[in-house]
Amino acid sequence: MKIYGALEAGGTKMVCATGLADGTILEQTSIPTTTPDDTVEKIADFFSDKGIVSLGIATFGPVDVKKGSPTYGCILNTPKLAWQNYNLLSALKKRISVPMEIDTDVNGSCLGELTFGCAKGLDSVIYITIGTGVGVGIAINGKLMHGMLHPEAGHILLNKHPDDPYPGKCPFHPNCMEGLCAGPAIEERYGKPAFELSDRQDVWELEAYYIAQAIVDFVCTLSPRKVILGGGVMHQEQLFPLIRKKTKELLNGYIETAELADMENYIVPASLHDDQGIMGAVQLAKWAENGAD
Ligand code: ADP
Ligand code: ZN
Repeated sequence: MKIYGALEAGGTKMVCATGLADGTILEQTSIPTTTPDDTVEKIADFFSDKGIVSLGIATFGPVDVKKGSPTYGCILNTPKLAWQNYNLLSALKKRISVPMEIDTDVNGSCLGELTFGCAKGLDSVIYITIGTGVGVGIAINGKLMHGMLHPEAGHILLNKHPDDPYPGKCPFHPNCMEGLCAGPAIEERYGKPAFELSDRQDVWELEAYYIAQAIVDFVCTLSPRKVILGGGVMHQEQLFPLIRKKTKELLNGYIETAELADMENYIVPASLHDDQGIMGAVQLAKWAENGAD
């Protein structure tokens, strides 16, 4: 049986795993993200005796995912300075000689759900993670969307709620989704971490107000067949009914599809028990093996 290597590269930890074609994870370990060379050395050590046929990498970004670009595989303008302009892909290729495929962490999660999870068989789907930041992975016609860089849809601009005085946490935009909705924004707005605010109805009403605005924009621009919501903040399950209701209100009947008529199955939680990213990386490895373009 072929064994695939999967790497979910994050700013605080690197999840390394081996898996099978059907998404089964065989072995998994987590390595703290320190300096680039040290970290890559440890990743290479993990994979050295695993007999992997290829490696899929789902990484934090921004990252150059354009094949043929001179900086293909490079981590770009990250606040983690040691990693800025570090070519993760070529550093791994120097140490591990198997075909590799690299994409963003959120595209990886999107691909995991598309291949093995609740979006199986759908042609177009989006995956929104709301955690330390907000990121959006987009699959269109079965392929992950890149464009000139890759979507940075966590930074779409939203209408501020008239009763929300919070100035936003994003240093670039006073009213972007990440700055208003991510875990650190909730914590700063209310002075308590999000998971301690479970019973505060007003917190989740406001959160749903913002998330629903973003979903409406994505529904109108990308026409996804499903919207999957993951990340730490979405562990607050009471958000789902609030988001569905608000999305419906904001769409205001303008778009009528079978999918939107079935909101319960349209806006859904991630289905792979927080393994969607690493399982997506397994699928990236399968693409690498087959020389995906
Ligand atoms: P990351 O985005 O760094 O990969 P997470 O998706 O776990 O990690 O997101 C971390 C953020 O999510 C933190 O801001 C944390 O406060 C928030 N968070 C984690 N668990 C919960 C929870 N159960 N309820 C609400 N917020 C949570
Ligand atoms: Zn922003």
